[in-house]
Amino acid sequence: MDKIVALCKRRGLIFPASEIYGGIANTYDYGHYGVLLKRNVVDAWWDAMLQERDDVVALDSAIIQHPKTWESSGHLAGFTDPLVDCKTCKRRFRADHLAEARENPDSQPEIRCGKRPSKLPGETEECELTEPREFNLMFETAIGPIQGGGQRVFLRPETAQGIFLDFKTVLTFVRRKPPFGIAQVGKSFRNEITPGNFIFRTLEFEQMEMEFFVPPDQADEWYDHWKQARFEWYVELGLRADHLRLRDHDADELSHYSSATADVEYLFPIGWSELEGIANRGDFDLKAHAAGSGKAIEVVEQDGTRYVPHVIEPAAGVGRSVLAFLADAYDEEDLGDGDIRTVLRLHPRLAPVKVAILPLVKKDGQPELAAEVQALLKKRMQTEYDEGGSIGKRYRRQDEIGTPWCVTIDHQSLEDRTVTLRDRDSLAQERIAIDDLGELLSGRLAGPWSSPKSAG
Ligand code: ATP
Repeated sequence: MDKIVALCKRRGLIFPASEIYGGIANTYDYGHYGVLLKRNVVDAWWDAMLQERDDVVALDSAIIQHPKTWESSGHLAGFTDPLVDCKTCKRRFRADHLAEARENPDSQPEIRCGKRPSKLPGETEECELTEPREFNLMFETAIGPIQGGGQRVFLRPETAQGIFLDFKTVLTFVRRKPPFGIAQVGKSFRNEITPGNFIFRTLEFEQMEMEFFVPPDQADEWYDHWKQARFEWYVELGLRADHLRLRDHDADELSHYSSATADVEYLFPIGWSELEGIANRGDFDLKAHAAGSGKAIEVVEQDGTRYVPHVIEPAAGVGRSVLAFLADAYDEEDLGDGDIRTVLRLHPRLAPVKVAILPLVKKDGQPELAAEVQALLKKRMQTEYDEGGSIGKRYRRQDEIGTPWCVTIDHQSLEDRTVTLRDRDSLAQERIAIDDLGELLSGRLAGPWSSPKSAG
């Protein structure tokens, strides 16, 4: 994890927020390449939900909703974590995380109680934990100009509730009956207390959530469908299948709204952890908002029969996915003689920059031809021009941000309008005609790809 954090900082992908003030807990900013990577992850998700299907529509609902939303949804009463304080090491933990760490000592070392060196050499003082207290994770704020007197509202802890509130409205324009889904990407906020683990758990985070509304008798079938579809999405984007697994929740793990949940788990540097949850929420949410608002939320069939649809929800985190893609892609390749190449073997579709254009020297018309090549490619894909430093250093820089291809313009290019195309993973170099480059790279970008990293 330290190596990924260092690379993200070094290359400006992701770094601590408010750093000039010493940072703020569990909060990160995304720089240029981080924004591009994150955008590619979100685009791939939208493509899988919208472009590649015709039974899902998009929504962008508000972050601050009517406060009754959270009363009805159960979040006000039940969206809590059990917290314990350690009187020895003075840290605060989630009781469920500590229990998990006790059961599985190899899991997430950050969530284990720290203890303290005792006054006796070689010994540690035992931890002394307080009784667990329930702590609500929602951030509160107020609407209105009077300090302390405004209307108490909450920053949404999940995007899903906005979808349930709008279900009836969407139903009127979607021109179809269940099964269909409503998808949304947006920020959610949780007052998380577990520190560390980089962007795995942050106070504000983007979620990619889709609520799939189905006739009750189809719920099981769609639940299985979405478990499988979401697992495969990660594999298609290059995560190694042996670092991914689907884990069904035990009955005592289920959230207050869920009748069945499975997690897509990834083998993060901190151990196997949740990447995405797929839940069968039943009719809990629609019924809760119908009761809370006094308005019927149902589907009326042509023959007049009415029912409350059941909901299957795949809920993923953008930041957590970015972390998984980075962890899976990070590689150090030994090129011999102590030469280690750090390379992000990202799926080309996710790579922040697809192609770097590099004139070998800063003279003899090479920069001008390189600019021409860039103009040719930039309408098709994200490009970057770089003429600073030795060609070897420039290649390594692109390797570290995961650029799958580099195009080098040299003296021969001026004579015969060909360039060298270097492949990030194989390091193979081919001579390609400038006029063929666009088609060739677009084809490779759209084509299949699998991680050349060995398993393990
Ligand atoms: P966890 O058990 O890790 O706290 P959760 O089960 O509460 O997660 P969900 O409510 O199912 O999470 O949220 C769906 C997804 O949103 C998670 O799988 C994760 O990818 C993401 N997510 C949830 N909380 C956070 C957070 N604090 N920071 C980053 N991503 C998060």
